[in-house]
Amino acid sequence: MFVLELLKTHFGFDAYRPLQKDIIDTVVSGKDTLVLMPTGGGKSLCYQLPALALPGMTLVVSPLIALMKDQVDALCANGISAAFINSSLTTKEQEAVTSRVRSGDLKILYIAPERVDSYGFSDLLDSVEISLLAIDEAHCISQWGHDFRPDYRNLGMLRRKLAGTPVVALTATATPRVRQDILQQLMMPKAEVFISSFNRENLHYSVRPKFNAVSQLVELLESQKGESTIVYCFSRKNTEEIAQALVRAGFKAAAYHAGLPKQQRMQVQDQFARDEIPVIVATIAFGMGIDKPDVRLVVHMDLPKTIEGYYQETGRAGRDGLPSECVLFYTYADKRKQEFFINQLSDPQEHALATRKLEDVIMYCQSDVCRRFILLAYFGELDADTSCEACDNCTEPSAVPIEATEISQKILSAVLRTGERFGAAHVCDVLRGSKKKRILELGHDGLSVHGIAKNVSAGLLREYTQALKKCGYLNQSEGEYPVLEVSPKGRLVLMSKEEILLPVRQVEKSRSSSVSKSKTKSNLDYDQVLFEKLRALRKEIADQQNVPPFVIFGDKTLHEMAYYLPSGPEAFSNLFGVGRKKLEAFGEEFLACVSAEVLERGLEEKPVTGKVPQHQSGEAGKLSSTLEQTKVHVSEKMSIDKIAELRGLSVGTIMQHIEKLVHEDEALDIEHLRPGKDSFDEMEEAFRSVKGSSLTAVFRRLGEKYSYDDLRLVRMFLVD
Ligand code: ADP
Ligand code: ZN
Repeated sequence: MFVLELLKTHFGFDAYRPLQKDIIDTVVSGKDTLVLMPTGGGKSLCYQLPALALPGMTLVVSPLIALMKDQVDALCANGISAAFINSSLTTKEQEAVTSRVRSGDLKILYIAPERVDSYGFSDLLDSVEISLLAIDEAHCISQWGHDFRPDYRNLGMLRRKLAGTPVVALTATATPRVRQDILQQLMMPKAEVFISSFNRENLHYSVRPKFNAVSQLVELLESQKGESTIVYCFSRKNTEEIAQALVRAGFKAAAYHAGLPKQQRMQVQDQFARDEIPVIVATIAFGMGIDKPDVRLVVHMDLPKTIEGYYQETGRAGRDGLPSECVLFYTYADKRKQEFFINQLSDPQEHALATRKLEDVIMYCQSDVCRRFILLAYFGELDADTSCEACDNCTEPSAVPIEATEISQKILSAVLRTGERFGAAHVCDVLRGSKKKRILELGHDGLSVHGIAKNVSAGLLREYTQALKKCGYLNQSEGEYPVLEVSPKGRLVLMSKEEILLPVRQVEKSRSSSVSKSKTKSNLDYDQVLFEKLRALRKEIADQQNVPPFVIFGDKTLHEMAYYLPSGPEAFSNLFGVGRKKLEAFGEEFLACVSAEVLERGLEEKPVTGKVPQHQSGEAGKLSSTLEQTKVHVSEKMSIDKIAELRGLSVGTIMQHIEKLVHEDEALDIEHLRPGKDSFDEMEEAFRSVKGSSLTAVFRRLGEKYSYDDLRLVRMFLVD
């Protein structure tokens, strides 16, 4: 019970994620623990919460230097005393941290593994009570893992030094062999092992036929409203080209790959974290240092090498548990790109393994059973449901064969007329009447089939062509440039003019151009306009404090604000992600933003239901008392600036107080606040001419000459 309270007051969460409670209880009880949980499962809480419940300090070893600062910032924003030591600190800064350690002021200390055997660290450990040792990314200790880090070998020594201190080791990727290795190397043979399901319920998976990748991507992004997106590409060159294409199409996008200077990579990562560049086009080098919780879309422009890789890369979407999309653009032709690299493997065993893994990926793409089922089965979770309602195969009408005689005959004829020497892209171009240079050079614009399927979209044409292959009417040659050929079966049907039925998916606009609306979509029907304003406010505060926006509040919290429209601290503190510290630090400003919108558009607050009130009536009375104080000052004929200064609040907040007061009590005398006659008349005139009280309309009409606060004030005098 005690720990559950910490969960709400410090992290603002009402409930545990699966397994968190059992893990936390075990850790707090002093047992050694190994935690296997997928990315986004909520591993950090498994040591952060025990750290608060235990008397001394928790030492966290983490290899991801880039993430330490964010983690620590997030903890501090929640009012938890935390710090880190790594190579990014100056000697002075390090000294400041060590003296905090010595004074017993720190609850959580993050440290990079290479620091563990550094001079003086052992002494430092002697000077403080350590209640818990947490090893993050524990697979790094194993040579069998995919990310072995020699520095992790120092941890054996640390273990000996801290003999008797319980350990919690955490990882998102560990095969049974790596798991054994972790237990052994960390000398924790009796550890309790927790393995959480790898099902990521909030992720929607889909595979789309790839034909004109960049414009497909552009369409997809257009439905994304500037939310964070990672686009994975096969090659470095590709990332740069696609990023440039996106920029030309008006998106804020940047490329990221290991060949860029370190400085530039860090800058791109930082701009992504700060919501300044929402779209990153990257090779798989981008990811290890990213734990942005609100990535809403992960796109693969090319085939991934393995299912493991695909699972890990898509796992970067939706760590905050909100609905997010994973889209893979697939064409069989991409297989060759991967094969090219596989063929360079000289070890026959490695070659065979890589080939098999690639085939699994192709199977995933071509299959029509639940994608989630395939992924989970791959990781040995065979009891997974075969219908998830959150993947394309489960939610989109399956390909029921439809009558497609005419279009099939056109396609088959085009393949024949062009001499069975071209791939699907060229044949479709001919059918659609393209005037591309290559078509003109080959004289294909003069063929009778040129332009005979003009009115069929490129996407649909591709679907038909795929289906003709699938049904054996067309064959595709092997080799570097596969070409289409009409099979004997195809020739027969062309001559006999028999009816042709093809299993073609109904490619409606929604399928190819936007992210799907599925079960995973947030069930909160929040106000989009307000959400955007709250996002902007969050960004502003984050910039002032020099932290990434998600450190202030996660998207889910903003969604709830824009849905429930809380009017006071009590309701506010019941929102997801609002703990005591954040209520104090940010409550006022976000409440003001909500109430401005509520007033302006006449929206109505909804009770935050199903949540246990954490802050009792004392706090609820606080808002009325804060209003009361403003009211007293207004009655004393004090100016708004003066009241703001006196109360340590912003002018905007005071303005909203007054607005509320006037709303409730028409007798309140605000005459002394009336602006000068000229400007008043000008604003009044504007309000009259837009025939309404929309601030935005007036603001625009007056060419942004007056601030929203000025307009708000004048509006108070206009109520009749
Ligand atoms: P991991 O390290 O396993 O990838 P994190 O610890 O970073 O995952 O947690 C992922 C996200 O889930 C974070 O945004 C975190 O705040 C959130 N989270 C963790 N536990 C809970 C919980 N019990 N309720 C709600 N959100 C949670
Ligand atoms: Zn499914």
